[in-house]
Amino acid sequence: MNDCLFCKIASGQIPADIVAENEIAVAFRDISPEAPSHVLVIPREHHDNVADLALANPLLAGQLLALAAEVIQTEKLTNGYRIVTNTGVDGGQSVNHLHFHVLGGRGLTWPPG
Ligand code: AMP
Repeated sequence: MNDCLFCKIASGQIPADIVAENEIAVAFRDISPEAPSHVLVIPREHHDNVADLALANPLLAGQLLALAAEVIQTEKLTNGYRIVTNTGVDGGQSVNHLHFHVLGGRGLTWPPG
């Protein structure tokens, strides 16, 4: 997608604070962190949201979670963490390229707003 921010981060056109990456996915620090550790995990391939991805390429969905698991280890989130994917207007999605937020390093409240 030509004007997609996260496609540009995935391809290196826009810099990001990358914490892990492989052939199919990139993990980088959120520019506006909501927790001491706040990392976004994205596929290099563009999908708008997790349901689109799971239907189009379920293997990739699992591979993304595997990269999230690497992040959880390297960020040492031994006390727990949350993986969130906001979707659509009601879900509060602001970037329409699927991303998992991996949040940790503090107690996280529930329910979300
Ligand atoms: P969402 O609102 O769930 O779609 O999440 C989008 C996230 O992307 C927000 O938490 C933003 O802070 C984050 N974000 C936006 N632009 C950048 C960027 N250039 N680098 C890193 N994170 C970003």
